[in-house]
Amino acid sequence: MAQRIKYIVVMGSIMSGLGKGILSSSIARLLKKRGYKVLPIKFDGYLNVDCGTMNPFRHGEVFVLDDGSEVDMDFGTYERFLNQSLTGRSSITGGKMFKRIIEKERRGDFLGRDVQFVPHLTDEIKECVKCVGEEEKADIVLIEVGGTVGDLENGYFIEAMRQLAYEVGKDLLFLQLTFVPSLGKGEPKTKPTQHANRLIQSMGIKPEIIICRGDEPLTKEAKEKISLYCNVPFENVVYDPMVPTVYQLPEMLEKQNLYDVLANRLELRKEAVEQSEWDKLVGRIIKPTHELKVGIVGKYTSVSDAYVSIKEALVHAGAVVNAKADFEFVDSEEFEGKMAKELEKYDAIIVPGGFGKRGIEGKIKAIQYCRENGVPFLGLCLGMQMMVVEYARNVCGLKGANSSEIEKETPHPVIDILPEQVSIMEKGATMRLGAYPCILKEGTKSFELYGEKNISERHRHRYEVNPNYVSKLEEGGLIISGVSPKNNIMEMCEWKEGFGIGTQAHPELKSRLEAPAPLFVGLLKAALKRKKKD
Ligand code: GLN
Repeated sequence: MAQRIKYIVVMGSIMSGLGKGILSSSIARLLKKRGYKVLPIKFDGYLNVDCGTMNPFRHGEVFVLDDGSEVDMDFGTYERFLNQSLTGRSSITGGKMFKRIIEKERRGDFLGRDVQFVPHLTDEIKECVKCVGEEEKADIVLIEVGGTVGDLENGYFIEAMRQLAYEVGKDLLFLQLTFVPSLGKGEPKTKPTQHANRLIQSMGIKPEIIICRGDEPLTKEAKEKISLYCNVPFENVVYDPMVPTVYQLPEMLEKQNLYDVLANRLELRKEAVEQSEWDKLVGRIIKPTHELKVGIVGKYTSVSDAYVSIKEALVHAGAVVNAKADFEFVDSEEFEGKMAKELEKYDAIIVPGGFGKRGIEGKIKAIQYCRENGVPFLGLCLGMQMMVVEYARNVCGLKGANSSEIEKETPHPVIDILPEQVSIMEKGATMRLGAYPCILKEGTKSFELYGEKNISERHRHRYEVNPNYVSKLEEGGLIISGVSPKNNIMEMCEWKEGFGIGTQAHPELKSRLEAPAPLFVGLLKAALKRKKKD
């Protein structure tokens, strides 16, 4: 008989931004280390069906999975910590749930009844959770409830979990993440946690583990108070410290016996079975031998999470080459009016993905600077498209070349809309999304970095290199190093001289500490080589 699935439900209290995703991922990692198949599930209360229509400059990066689902950026954290690819079924949003319920209602599935939050919506949520867990053959389903306890938006998710807890009894455990402020006085204040805990208990839920974020270490007294007033044993109160790298958090939690607490309560095995380089790589992140400065030339954003996967891919690649790759943002719109020489201070440049016209000429100017001055360059999606535009204009002599996304009437649309995109009007989940295969040309730098011919990367775009211009670009010396086997889309290109690679995909989305993205490793290696020469 199949083992019963165990559930861990992580809820955030007091305020947002405490790092629920990183905490959940760290717990998932501790479980994986013991050989368990962990399935993360994220509840998001918003009414969008998925993240695809949200602005990353307001909500953080839109993460894309192999199956083409556009999901919350926490999925990036789960995948990076677990080194495991997830499916869109792990993302349960308010929008998805309401859509299903309304479709059922229209079909007549509830005929004769009024359709309500309880039991219809809560049943739907429980059903989804159980189904994915079973179909994915998970040992442990780890659910992160988006938002903060007390929000109107996630109330029905929490109620669904209360019911699930009642149904599965001891196989489900609630965990409360909380904030314990000190206000610089060295005396952590537990009152907000006590109140938040009571709020949770008023919902019929009893958190069994309390994880405390704080700006100062949690004192023994504070732990005792939380234990006594929140009805949990002393050892179930765990401190979630600031760490030099998030990849260190699993170890920090383990040191406080969090895994043992979980294992005792859920009857899990305690011995580790995983053989992994994780700890060694974390060591290299903390104590790197070299330092590199990478400039990201993109549209301005005050939301630091907008490019989080690129930032993490640089950390992973840095651990391979033993370098700390500091990333600095260059506002491409502002850069349009500046001297290209201002990029001199960077060891490598990345032009990331994006949409629309703003700052585009600044990106092209930065790419030209890299090509002419031998600065290692990586172009991601829009970055690759602009690499092609720059090459067409300045090397192939195609005056006014552009992407038709940027300039409809350009005389040379070297980047043009994908044929299947022309008739699409709806905006949700309609781009070329998810993992697509690519065949690399032997003898190219791209091939050398991947070390194989057949690769697969994730995509999110509507435009492509115009096939009518490929021979002109090749005649001009641009190397097309990767092509999609089915529909002949140009997937990758590179310069003959120096290190300059552009990819239509988003390799940063598949980069993990234990499986770094080859193009990022290549970029940093080239940057180090160039730096050593100077
Ligand atoms: N805007 C471009 C396209 O749709 C690039 C998209 C991206 O960078 N993700 O093709």
